[in-house]
Amino acid sequence: MYDSHLHTPLCKHAVGTPLEYVAAARERGLAGVVFTDHNPMPAWFDPQSRMPAEQLGLYHSLVEEARAQAPDGFYVGLGLEADFHPGTTDYVRRQLEAYPYDYVIGSVHYIGAWPFDHPDFTDEFDRRDRLELYSEYYGLVYAAIEAGVFDAIGHLDLPKKFGHVPPEEAWDLVEGVLTAVKGADLALDVNTAGWRKPIGEIYPAPRIINRAAELGIPVVLGSDAHEPEEVGWRFGDAVELLLESGYREAWVYRNRKPEPYPLERA
Ligand code: ZN
Ligand code: FE
Ligand code: FE
Ligand code: ZN
Repeated sequence: MYDSHLHTPLCKHAVGTPLEYVAAARERGLAGVVFTDHNPMPAWFDPQSRMPAEQLGLYHSLVEEARAQAPDGFYVGLGLEADFHPGTTDYVRRQLEAYPYDYVIGSVHYIGAWPFDHPDFTDEFDRRDRLELYSEYYGLVYAAIEAGVFDAIGHLDLPKKFGHVPPEEAWDLVEGVLTAVKGADLALDVNTAGWRKPIGEIYPAPRIINRAAELGIPVVLGSDAHEPEEVGWRFGDAVELLLESGYREAWVYRNRKPEPYPLERA
C-alpha cells in the first residue's frame, strides 16, 4: 500500500521532516509514499498556508533527499497538492511543466475569497444556503476537472469537514462531477483525513465511493498527513470500505503515470 497524500512543514501548518514521514510509513508496513505539499500559487492567493515560490526548489531537494535515503524498493514520490482557483490555471500549468513530478492532486479549498475548510471561518456556513454552497463548490470542482492539469481530484466532498453535509438535492451535482472525472480519466483522492475531522467520515463519503466504483473511477489512497503520526491513518478501514464497494486495486502515480496495485486486507 502507498500513502499518496502527505504534507511537509514548508506549508506552514504541518510538522515533521520528510525523513520522519518516510520512517513512519516504513513502520506501518507501507510500500511507499508520495509527498503532495500545497503548491506555490500566485503571491496573492493564500500565501499563509503554502510555501512561497522561492522554496519550491527546497521542497524538491528535501523530498529527493528522503528518496535517496530510503531503502531499495521503498517508493518516495514527489508530487503536489495544487489548488484549483479561477484565474490561476496557467500559472499552475507552467509550474507543473517545469519539473518532473510524479503525481498532482487538484483541490478546491476556496469558494471565492472564503477558505471554507479553515476552522477560523466556519461562521460563514450559517450565512449560506447549503445547496447553493455545494452547487458553487462542485462548479469549481468541475472547472478543476476541465482544467486538464491534474491527475486526481482531492477530497471530493471537503465542505462537509465541520459537519455541513450536502443536502439530498446535491446528489445530482455529485453524479455530474463523477461522470466528468471518469470522462477526463482522472482518479479520486480517497482521503482518510475526514476520519480525523469533526465530520468523522472519509473523503469522499462511502456513498460517493460506491458510485465511483460503479463508474470505474480509479482511486488513490492518502492520509493527508500533516504530521508523521498521521501517515497511513486508518488505511485498514479504507481498504475494507473500498473492497466492500467493489474495488480490487488502487493506483499510485510515478512520472504522472498510474500504476495499479492490489488492495488487500492487512
Ligand atoms: Zn494542508
Ligand atoms: Fe486539501
Ligand atoms: Fe492535503
Ligand atoms: Zn488535502
